[in-house]
This record gives sequence, structure tokens and C-alpha cells, in this order.
Amino acid sequence: MKKKGMIVLLIVLIVAAMFLVRKQTRPVQYVRERVLVDTQENKLFIFKIPAGQIFEYPAESPFSEGKNAYPAYECMDCGAIFGVSETTLPADTDIKCPVCGSVMLSSAILPEGQESADVPGEPVKVVK
Ligand SMILES: [Zn+2]
Repeated sequence: MKKKGMIVLLIVLIVAAMFLVRKQTRPVQYVRERVLVDTQENKLFIFKIPAGQIFEYPAESPFSEGKNAYPAYECMDCGAIFGVSETTLPADTDIKCPVCGSVMLSSAILPEGQESADVPGEPVKVVK
């Protein structure tokens, strides 16, 4: 009888431990934010990448129908903002500015406190 009680207690402990572990490893709803550019609407916006996903672009934009949003880059030389079609992870090394050919690029950023911004000028190009 005593032994049985111990086994029950042990099972309860194991279940409790499993519950705790699961609770801790439950993914946060969003892990990463990235600035994307909607090539149809010429808009930069912050995109929240769902946890635990390898995300493939283009992504759906909240500003236009369909998948028109690519990771946004900015040319440090001419200031052009453009999208880059990435299949899996960023491969920044081979990317060149579609306007001036510069390799001095950075990820585009939004003005402080803004969730989206218009890109003035020419329609945003996409580097494939
Ligand atoms: Zn450029």
C-alpha cells in the first residue's frame, strides 16, 4: 500500500514537471521583427515573424492584396530603398543596389516610433 502511494506521488511529480517544462518552452507569440517593403504600395512596414518559423518571402503585406512584401534594404551610397528576395536566411553578401550597384547596404529602418512609412520616388525594385 505504501509503495503504491509512492508510485502515485512519483507520477504526479513527473506530470507536474512536464507541465512546467512545457510552460517554459512555449514559444513567445512573436520573436522577430523585420522591416519589409511592399513593392506594390511603396511602403515600409514592420513585419512580425511568427515564432519558430523559417519565413519565406515575399510575405503578405497589410497594404496590398497578395504577397508583395520583401525584406527592405537601403543603399548607403545613393539612398535607394529596395526589396530583396530571400529564399531562406539572409544572404546579404551577394546583394547589390539595383540603382547604383553599390554593395554598401544596410537593412532599412523606419523613423522612430513609426510602424510604417511611405517610400518616396520610383517604384521599389526587388533584387532576386
Ligand atoms: Zn545605390
